Amino acid sequence: MPTLHDQARIGGQKLRPESLMMSYGYTPAWSEGAIKPPIFQTSTFVFNSAEEGKAFFELAYGLRQQGPDEEMGLIYSRLNNPSLEILEHRLCLWDGAEDAASFASGMAAISTTLLALLQPGDVVLHSEPVYGGSDFFLKNVLRKFGITAVGFRPHATPAEMEALAAALAPGSLAMIFVETPANPTNHLIDLEACGALARKYSTADKPVRLVVDNTFLGPVFQHPLKHGADVVLYSATKFLGGHSDLIAGAALASKPLMKEIKAMRTFMGTMCDPNTGWMLMRSLETLKLRMERAAHSAQIIADWLRAHPLVANTYYLTHLEHNPVQQDIYRRHCLSPGSMISFDIKGGEPEAFRFLNALRLIKLAVSLGGTESLAEHPATMTHSDISVPEQAEMGITAQMIRLSIGVEDPQDLMLDLSQAFEAVGMVKTRELELA
Ligand SMILES: *Cc1c(COP(=O)(O)O)cnc(C)c1O
Repeated sequence: MPTLHDQARIGGQKLRPESLMMSYGYTPAWSEGAIKPPIFQTSTFVFNSAEEGKAFFELAYGLRQQGPDEEMGLIYSRLNNPSLEILEHRLCLWDGAEDAASFASGMAAISTTLLALLQPGDVVLHSEPVYGGSDFFLKNVLRKFGITAVGFRPHATPAEMEALAAALAPGSLAMIFVETPANPTNHLIDLEACGALARKYSTADKPVRLVVDNTFLGPVFQHPLKHGADVVLYSATKFLGGHSDLIAGAALASKPLMKEIKAMRTFMGTMCDPNTGWMLMRSLETLKLRMERAAHSAQIIADWLRAHPLVANTYYLTHLEHNPVQQDIYRRHCLSPGSMISFDIKGGEPEAFRFLNALRLIKLAVSLGGTESLAEHPATMTHSDISVPEQAEMGITAQMIRLSIGVEDPQDLMLDLSQAFEAVGMVKTRELELA
């Protein structure tokens, strides 16, 4: 098989990720000419000789240096499996990463990475809000291991973040963990500023790592490694999987960092399974098509929502004209506004609920990034464990509705949204008549 480097090029010219998702990292000769890789549904791998088994283990356990062209041998599916290795090679292309690891879930990727890179006494500075599972892990699980999480508010300026870092015990800052755009407000965090802060507080024996959960725009529309991040994390359940039919996660970073993360994955057993890995490869073939189509529809729908008389506010990444700081971050980091829209319906929770209950084509469910459009109420669903005053500080309102736009026809989606607004409007008029 040509090397990965050669497979990604024609005449020295680098091919784009979407052109490589069908073939990269696999050769049909491995499986009777099958154009698609089979699912390597196996727990263990047969060694050609005892010597080969010994050599594989030496590498796996770090007993000797890896040769320049030496690949890790296949040993046991908790360590590595071809279905995952092909997937991981393909994942690297989107983010321009050196190496990747696939996981059983987004939370498996997040928890394994944080446990691999942190130790007792360390402090993690993190953006707020972050995904509920990450929030719990940072504040409750890490604490059991003597690791402290310190959150910073969405509108914290680089100077305010710097003051937070300066107030910590010297040498304790080990990680800046960021989710951008933030869920459900689409608030953006300046990765370049976070990267500069991480480097400023890094010392030779204590690097400060910038770790970014890139689930909302990645891997097509935002590439944090190019803006100073050390590790990129995904819930592959969302856009990467894209069909609401699997749970998976991924981590991407430099080879030395991935070595630490993969070692922790081996001992935690948090790897992806071969069948899910294969499903993800199938999803990757249409990743860009799906994300571009959904973002195109989302832009049309967001603009239409903004003009709707029953909408008080939209939270969408091309609706930032009144916020030059956010607009500047958007211009530097994002290649598209993506397909997540939040909006405030006029009224409060009752109006939001009537609207959600009236939707027909758009399904009332949490999660996001799938082919089908979904709607939910962050204040009482995904973000219900955040206290109301804290929700207010994060900009999460009782009348906020979050939409994940899928690949349906945007006119049909607006037809559905329109009739749901009408349902809210009708009930309102009737109430007024009774009053
Ligand atoms: C869904 C999600 C997660 C968790 O991923 P799972 O695959 O559900 O474990 C983490 N971060 C973000 C931003 C998410 O949306």
